[in-house]
Amino acid sequence: MKLVVDVQGFKIENNKFIVKEFAAFNGSQVCHYVFKPPFPLRMLPSDLHKQATWLMNNHHAIDWNNGYTPLHHFGSIFQKLIKDIDCIYVKGMEKANYIKKFSTVPVYEIDEQPAFELGEPLCFYHKNNKCICALSNVYFLYNKYMMQN
Ligand SMILES: [Zn+2]
Repeated sequence: MKLVVDVQGFKIENNKFIVKEFAAFNGSQVCHYVFKPPFPLRMLPSDLHKQATWLMNNHHAIDWNNGYTPLHHFGSIFQKLIKDIDCIYVKGMEKANYIKKFSTVPVYEIDEQPAFELGEPLCFYHKNNKCICALSNVYFLYNKYMMQN
C-alpha cells in the first residue's frame, strides 16, 4: 500500500525543521495531527522568529502555539502509521529527507515544482481562509499522482 504524506512546520536553529501539521492518506484512510510547539516562540532568534511569523501570516497560517500532541510523539505515531505501508510519497526534497529519518520503508520524492497553491484548508487549525493545509495537500497529491496507474 502507498502512503502520501505532507508536513507543514517551522525552522528552528541549525536549519532544523519542526513539524506543526502532519497528514497522511493511503487512498482510504487519513491521519492528521497538529503538534505542540517544542518551546516558546520568543526563544527563536530574530531572523527565524520573523520567518515563523511570515509562515503564520502567509503560508500555513497555523499559530506556533496551536496543537495538542507533544512533538516527541511524532516518531512513534509515524512508526504505527507505516506498519502496512510499502512506500511513501512526499513532495519536495527537504520534506522527503525529513520523513526518511523516521521511515523504515522507501520514501519517494515528488518534484517540488509546481509548488502547492494557497487554497481552502480542510482542517480547523488554520487562521486564514486561503493557506497551505497538509490535509488538503495529501488528498491533492494522492489524486494527482497515485490515481494514474
Ligand atoms: Zn490543515
